[in-house]
Amino acid sequence: DKNPDSGGIAVIGLGRFGSRLAESLSALGHQVLAIDRNPQQVQRWSAQLDQVAQADSTDELALRQLGVADLNRVVVAIGASVEASVLTVLALVELGVPQIWARATSTQHSKILSAVGAQHVIFPEKETGERLAHLIVSRMLDFV
Ligand code: ATP
Repeated sequence: DKNPDSGGIAVIGLGRFGSRLAESLSALGHQVLAIDRNPQQVQRWSAQLDQVAQADSTDELALRQLGVADLNRVVVAIGASVEASVLTVLALVELGVPQIWARATSTQHSKILSAVGAQHVIFPEKETGERLAHLIVSRMLDFV
């Protein structure tokens, strides 16, 4: 499939950020494959999401068996473990996934993700903080 906007999207890591992202993508009408290594997270989200699989995303073979190599877009939403996040991006690069979005928790983490081959690096906490600052200031202007 050559259209970069078509096909399913995988979300790896169903913490607060990843699970909400997966839900929003589903609500927008996209087919989402959600992956987490923790069986409790898989259990928890299997009712809300169409496809939820239990796997260690640093395992390239496990990702291949789930069909991740056929997807155009994958989001690595793992935050706390830099090692798991970097090894997951590496596995996705090896599988030839063309659009890899990866969540960073520090500047160094972000540099490693880019160096390994992530096309998009995101900082959800930083971006939300910045957006909220603008929102608060704009709301306050309403009362000046
Ligand atoms: P959030 O802020 O989104 O809640 P967090 O930083 O608190 O996330 P993390 O430790 O980043 O939590 O984990 C997010 C999810 O990623 C967890 O559900 C965890 O089980 C999953 N995860 C971590 N490592 C892997 C891995 N190697 N393979 C698959 N899933 C993983």
